[in-house]
Amino acid sequence: MFLLECTYDPDELARHNVHTHSVFSKCAKPEMTLEAMIRAAEEVGLRTLAVTDHSDPQDDIDTYGNFLVLKEKLAQIDTPVRVLLGAELSAYGVGKYAEPYEVDRALDFAAYSHVHYHLDTWDQPQDRSPRGYAQHNLAVLNALFETGRADHVAHPFSPCKMPFFDEAQKAQTLDCLTDNELGDVLEKGERAGCSWEIHTPTFFRFPAFSRRFFWIGREVGAHFALGTDAHTLAALSTQGIAERLRAVLV
Ligand SMILES: [Zn+2]
Ligand SMILES: [Zn+2]
Repeated sequence: MFLLECTYDPDELARHNVHTHSVFSKCAKPEMTLEAMIRAAEEVGLRTLAVTDHSDPQDDIDTYGNFLVLKEKLAQIDTPVRVLLGAELSAYGVGKYAEPYEVDRALDFAAYSHVHYHLDTWDQPQDRSPRGYAQHNLAVLNALFETGRADHVAHPFSPCKMPFFDEAQKAQTLDCLTDNELGDVLEKGERAGCSWEIHTPTFFRFPAFSRRFFWIGREVGAHFALGTDAHTLAALSTQGIAERLRAVLV
């Protein structure tokens, strides 16, 4: 389900950060306690903060238990920021999910990663070319949209977690997606009530694709939501991002 209003205005997009990691993610800095994250969000004027800790296939993370702990902490914190307690869940193959359906639906915000190909437990496509990965991405997303599990796609199509590809091959995984393929999958996501992340690290690294993705999304009426993938308090801020988005989108 959509948690944010549909907008294509860079200023409005930058008032919300829907991809952040607390200390429940091993990769986050120890400063990322819920309270410190909320205070940092207040300081930089965020209206929405979504906490999206990792939930990887075959991990030892208690996603639902962590959600309950954060929920209890949140009840003690007075803040004008809208805080969504969710997770960066895993669609690690076609029709393969790391958590039971009930856990996904219990969270405030079910963001889904479909591109953590650097993990040993992640399915790889049979065709290991850039085009093979692009097609695998489409197949995983199309299956995910049938399930009603996801509220949001984290870093859509991001090739950042493909350590076996060089930068040109990474860009190829994006550039080989046709406008029609993108239009179709964006429409399916929209019908499934699922927003698409403007994941700033990927967005600014692959601007040609980002521009195409955004404008096709706008054409089909897709919902976008911005995420910085913050692992530090400083990275929670979206200040200056609206200007950078404008520069890419012209
Ligand atoms: Zn991720
Ligand atoms: Zn993340």
